[in-house]
Amino acid sequence: MKNAIRSAGLLRECLGLPLEQTGELVPGEVSSTTETCSNTNASIAAADYGFPIFVTREFVSRMRPGDPNDPLLRQVLPVSDEAAVVDGFGSDPVGDLHANVAPGVLHKYHGRALVVTTGACGIHCRYCFRREFPYAAAGSRGQAFEPSLQYLREHDDIEEVILSGGDPLTMTDAAIDSLVERIEGIDHVTRLRIHTRMPIVVPSRVTLGLIERLRSSRLNVWVVVHVNHASEIDTPTQAALERFVDAGIPTLNQSVLLAGVNDDAATLERLSRRLMECRVMPYYLHQLDRVTGAAHFEVSPERGRELIAELETRLPGFAVPRYVAELAGRASKTRI
Ligand SMILES: *Cc1c(COP(=O)(O)O)cnc(C)c1O
Ligand code: SF4
Repeated sequence: MKNAIRSAGLLRECLGLPLEQTGELVPGEVSSTTETCSNTNASIAAADYGFPIFVTREFVSRMRPGDPNDPLLRQVLPVSDEAAVVDGFGSDPVGDLHANVAPGVLHKYHGRALVVTTGACGIHCRYCFRREFPYAAAGSRGQAFEPSLQYLREHDDIEEVILSGGDPLTMTDAAIDSLVERIEGIDHVTRLRIHTRMPIVVPSRVTLGLIERLRSSRLNVWVVVHVNHASEIDTPTQAALERFVDAGIPTLNQSVLLAGVNDDAATLERLSRRLMECRVMPYYLHQLDRVTGAAHFEVSPERGRELIAELETRLPGFAVPRYVAELAGRASKTRI
């Protein structure tokens, strides 16, 4: 993560892209004479709509050089479309602020509570529904998980704890060990779920120590990763995913349906096939949450339904993800 790319200029340089081809935000442009593509110490942050560019070298290496429409590049490069003010797009599209029941805990659904472990991610996805989430106010938080744990202890209907964020695997193995140990101490919790994109953006994060810790937990551990396009899974990424699967940790994938990234049937089919090669189950295909700055990624539900119908004619049933929207106030994700 220290070596991650944090400026549009450097990202374009790595990919051999002239500025005028990308449609990106010009005022956020930061140029530097010291950083180069091969320089692994780049650290200039461009403040782009309050959500700076952040993308690992590993992820960039899977982009096609010279292609401004590369589906991986579109996920991380700020473009001027983000400035558009579009009706219905806001800062809390899924009602998380109301579900924030205790510091750092979202409890929307029966039996499972989500813990916001950190605000940090290994990549900044431009369409992220939490790009406007007040992480600081949610209390993220070094070792200070006690108020969240107290909530989990007091609610014995919670059988599953979901570690989310941000990305929980941006924490150190030691911090994860300590948090998991405290969750293991809550008798009514039987399952631990980890929502993470780190295996995709930093495959080496899936250390043997981490695997061993999760494998030996008294909790039943599940992992949910986030991949939107088959090109995100190169050989090291496949190996990282297989470390979970080989350890007997069920691993699922969720994607977001994104215009210009994966909104055609052949692309979604390739994604499901690639996931099957890694023995990862396609779980959800999410309708975009209507967060400010992401309107240009939206695909209509009608089009999404057509895509799913097409996938159903081409793939095994288990490889067709459930197409869902997150609607504020509902008791679960809503099937479209
Ligand atoms: C999506 C979500 C979950 C998990 O939902 P599943 O359908 O069980 O995958 C849990 N809590 C919150 C707050 C969520 O947004
Ligand atoms: S990894 Fe997940 S939480 Fe982090 S920016 Fe991307 S979509 Fe948002």
